[in-house]
Amino acid sequence: MTPNEYQRAAMRTAPKKLSLAEAALGMATEASEAADVLKKHLFQGHPLDTEKLKKEMGDALWYMAYVCHIVEGLDLESVMEDNIKKLSLRFPDGFTPEASMARADESNDEFQNTNTVRKIYPDDYPGVTLGVKE
Ligand SMILES: [Mg+2]
Repeated sequence: MTPNEYQRAAMRTAPKKLSLAEAALGMATEASEAADVLKKHLFQGHPLDTEKLKKEMGDALWYMAYVCHIVEGLDLESVMEDNIKKLSLRFPDGFTPEASMARADESNDEFQNTNTVRKIYPDDYPGVTLGVKE
């Protein structure tokens, strides 16, 4: 399954009324649930529940796909590709604390120019709500 095949399949269960606020909260919540599995293992003596970890990671992925579904021009595959591009620029020889602090990708004009800043306004996306009561 490709990332975009996943996105299409996952969005079969997207709500009719799209909400970036719900997507943002969902990503944070599911990432937190995955972190909780690790916390329980690392600090509370629980065995590592890999099935629960996998489930929560999948839930977080669903919300990432949901953001891509809402924001025009975003899809999981391009998110993944751009992340790898950023990592290649930032850490050409693998992770080092020095490269992490230098953040070479942020001073690289070529990389910056390949990414457009998107601004979301409710009026630009009919049916999209920011989760504010009207
Ligand atoms: Mg969950």
